[in-house]
Amino acid sequence: MDNKNFPPCLDCDDEDAVLVPLSDFGGQGAAVHYKAWVCTSPECDYNIKIRNGEIHENEPIIQGNTRRPRQ
Ligand SMILES: [Zn+2]
Repeated sequence: MDNKNFPPCLDCDDEDAVLVPLSDFGGQGAAVHYKAWVCTSPECDYNIKIRNGEIHENEPIIQGNTRRPRQ
């Protein structure tokens, strides 16, 4: 993967850290591209998510099986 295609992380000083896009699937099963951006540095975990047209910055990361039920 060529990291130069991604924007640098704004929140940590790691030169190699970039924000990578993640995608999700919407309620109708349609792909939602670039819904979230997450820093590649494990010590940083900086993230931006788009939900309902709003940007949510640096939310705590929820791992694995602890997904909240759909609202
Ligand atoms: Zn970072």
